[in-house]
Amino acid sequence: MEFRYLGHSGLKISEITYGNWLTHGSQVENDVATQCVRAALDAGITTYDTADAYANTQAETVLGEALRGERRESLEIFTKVYWPTGPRGHNDSGLSRKHIMESINGSLTRLGTDYVDLYQAHRYDTETPLEETMQAFADVVRSGKAHYIGVSEWTADQIRAGAAMARELGFPLISSQPQYSMLWRVIEDEVVPTCAELGLSQIVWSPIAQGVLSGKYLPGQAPPAGSRATDEKGGADMIKRFMDDDVLTRVQDLKPVAESLDLTMAQLAVAWVLQNDNVAAALVGASRPEQVAENVAAAGVRIPEEAMTRIDEVLGDLPVRDTGKTAENAPTTRPS
Ligand code: NDP
Repeated sequence: MEFRYLGHSGLKISEITYGNWLTHGSQVENDVATQCVRAALDAGITTYDTADAYANTQAETVLGEALRGERRESLEIFTKVYWPTGPRGHNDSGLSRKHIMESINGSLTRLGTDYVDLYQAHRYDTETPLEETMQAFADVVRSGKAHYIGVSEWTADQIRAGAAMARELGFPLISSQPQYSMLWRVIEDEVVPTCAELGLSQIVWSPIAQGVLSGKYLPGQAPPAGSRATDEKGGADMIKRFMDDDVLTRVQDLKPVAESLDLTMAQLAVAWVLQNDNVAAALVGASRPEQVAENVAAAGVRIPEEAMTRIDEVLGDLPVRDTGKTAENAPTTRPS
């Protein structure tokens, strides 16, 4: 495993980080979830990402159980707050002081830990004054319940405003968690340069485009049994944005590039996001322990310049690059 600093901080994280969205407490049974976490630990992954809202809080419980008994100081545990949880009452979502203070306590109990290493605003809350949110995060840090604060899917302007306010309150924002893959490059023109300037890194989600970049979905054919595209508990709905024959055909054309580098398609996808210097970690998911073992081999891989160019040529205008997509995909009101 290779480790990278998270933003302008002294915190090192594993450049392959394990996340449990859609899997723990939902798509996979708890024993398989534990096997995946075991495979991650065995492969040297020390950084684990979850959220209060995943499987309506169940994912945190499953992750906490799976990590029980591990030396806490050897792990970096990340969670998030914003999306609705519990009975989805009027204060059970967003970034109000009330919800942040209640949500961090719930997360710590479920994860079975006294603190998380990184606490992230899962989206920007248009209904809570930014100052209130940042004050609450400052207090979470001062109380020792989180060591560092990050954001997820905030626009460059929101990150700039949040970072300035955090600095005034005496703590830094150190990370941004956006979607990023060969197929989804919307952070490159604004979010990445802003974060590089302000001392934040990216922890990027869905680097394999939810499994699509593994090449296992073939155009014109039914998805393999047990894959996310067949998961009626939520996965199928989430992955459908990529389940298009044009996308799947172009992805198949990447196979010779992966083979020429002696990498699997999934390894190529993970290694590709790690070529970006502002990316601290590729945040991968898995429904089976073998996937973790395969994907982790992307750590430390340097893709030669010619292969990066070839990937651009193969994908052509397929990757989404519009910087406006971050704002477009974000809720305009607080969800309930
Ligand atoms: P990936 O792009 O890594 O997709 C993971 C899925 O792809 C697996 O569950 C598996 O699904 C399939 N897969 C993985 N490896 C292989 C392989 N080698 N061969 C074939 N199939 C493979 O990321 P996720 O979409 O799971 O997201 C990762 C993490 O990012 C989440 O757990 C979460 O922590 C974070 N995230 C954050 C968000 C945010 O808003 N901040 C939003 C979404 C995710 P299957 O076997 O079922 O097909």
